Amino acid sequence: MLSVRNLSKNFDGIPAVKNLSLELKKGEIFVLLGPNGAGKTTTLKLIAGLLHPDTGEILLDGIDLKKEPVKYKSLIGYVPDEPFIYNKLTGREFINFVAGLFGIKKQEYDKRLTELIKKFEIGNWIDEPAETYSHGMKQKIVMCQLLIHEPELILIDEPLVGLDPKMSKIVRETFIELAQKGKTLLVSTHTLSFARQIAQRLGIINKGELKFVGTPEELARIAGREDIEEIYLKLTEEN
Ligand code: ATP
Repeated sequence: MLSVRNLSKNFDGIPAVKNLSLELKKGEIFVLLGPNGAGKTTTLKLIAGLLHPDTGEILLDGIDLKKEPVKYKSLIGYVPDEPFIYNKLTGREFINFVAGLFGIKKQEYDKRLTELIKKFEIGNWIDEPAETYSHGMKQKIVMCQLLIHEPELILIDEPLVGLDPKMSKIVRETFIELAQKGKTLLVSTHTLSFARQIAQRLGIINKGELKFVGTPEELARIAGREDIEEIYLKLTEEN
C-alpha cells in the first residue's frame, strides 16, 4: 500500500534519515520506535510530503508523491506531535475547514462530527476558541479533523503526548478500529507498552537508520525474552 524506497534526508550535511526502505500493507498498524533525534519525525514528514527527500521515492497505491503530489496528499492524513490549530478558530470551525478541504458532504460531516464529539468527550469545548484549549483538548480536535475524512494512510507523530490514561485508551481503540476498516497507520512513539499493544509490526530507528523491522513477537524472540525493552535499548544504545 505504502512503498518507501531508499529515502534519505540531510540537514546542513548531517543525515537525519539514511537510505530508509519500508513497505506497509493495507490495514496495518506499523509503529516506529526510536530515541530522541532518531529521525522519526523527519521520516513521517517526508512521507506526508511536508519535506522533500534528498534521495528516494514514496508511492501510495502506486501514486508517486513526487509526480502526483495533490492526488497522493488527498489520501493521507498527518498529525504532528505539536498539534496546530489556528488559535482564533473554535474546534468546530477548524474541523469544518478541514472537512471543506477534503470535500466531505454536509450530511456525512454532521453525522461523523456528532459521533466524534461524543467519542472524545469534547462536549461544549467544540465551540470554544482553540486558544483556551489544554494540550490534550488540542490533541482531541486534531484527532477529529483526521477522522472526519478518514484517509487511507494515517501518519501520527507521538499520539500519546499530553493525554491522560483514559484518552490514551480511546486513541488506542480508535487506531485498532481504523485498521480494521482497512486504513493503514504509521505511528511514532517512545512508549514501548503502547507500541506493543497496537503494533502489528514495528520498526526501530536509530540515527536515521532502521535497525529492526518485524512483529513484536519477532523482536521478543531476538531478545530471547518477553520484554522488548532490553532489545530496544540494545539496538539504540550507541545513541
Ligand atoms: P524526537 O523523538 O526527539 O521527536 P525524532 O526521532 O522525531 O526525535 P527528528 O526530529 O526526525 O527525530 O530529528 C532527526 C535529526 O534531524 C535530529 O538530529 C534533528 O536535530 C535533525 N533535524 C530535524 N529537523 C531539522 C531541521 N529542520 N533542521 C536541522 N536539523 C533538523
